[in-house]
Amino acid sequence: MQLTPTNLTQLDFDKAKLLPAIVQHATSGVILMQGFMNSDAIKMTLEKKLVTFYSRSKQRLWTKGETSNNVLNLVSAHTDCDQDSILLFALPEGPTCHLGTQSCFGDAKPAIGFLAELEEVIVSRKNDNPDSSYTASLFAKDISRSCQKVGEEGVEVALAAMKADVNELENESADLLYHLLVLLQRSETNLSSVINCLQNRHK
Ligand code: AMP
Ligand code: ZN
Ligand code: ZN
Ligand code: ZN
Repeated sequence: MQLTPTNLTQLDFDKAKLLPAIVQHATSGVILMQGFMNSDAIKMTLEKKLVTFYSRSKQRLWTKGETSNNVLNLVSAHTDCDQDSILLFALPEGPTCHLGTQSCFGDAKPAIGFLAELEEVIVSRKNDNPDSSYTASLFAKDISRSCQKVGEEGVEVALAAMKADVNELENESADLLYHLLVLLQRSETNLSSVINCLQNRHK
């Protein structure tokens, strides 16, 4: 169930005064950190749209990033089947872990989320020096270059599959996915919107 300011009373604080709250990256699905929330923490999280925990060591409300500025921008908040646990989707600014890594769980992340990470890298290269980055050099050229690359790589994927060369198929598919992500950016859309199309068809 999605949590809103009006249904927070449904959270089950009878079993425990603090509920565990898992923060997941809203696009890549990487688990960023886990903390605890009381009712005020979840209220403030929804109000400020910044993930705020009840810190057991500080014994007060703690907005993640309050000193480091590495905040977690709330996308949506959810509770589990019996309302005793919280899941937050967020978009982080900077590393979430105080040790400097993206996630408090280090590099423990699902492979599929890398597509979203790659898209972020592509976006960050948009205005870089074309001499120092291949991605930036693509953005500096006419969009027709990206259209052509997607066409070429698509044909290469098909040819590799016809040859039954799995290694080549995987490599050409990687090329295709990369150039498709670039083309989507150049066309002012993104991977999430494409996934939405797939999800809508699935309904
Ligand atoms: P911050 O909320 O990022 O300004 O950090 C404030 C303090 O909270 C840090 O000095 C750490 O002691 C602690 N802290 C920050 N991030 C984490 C985290 N992901 N997990 C546990 N403690 C943290
Ligand atoms: Zn539960
Ligand atoms: Zn950490
Ligand atoms: Zn290729």
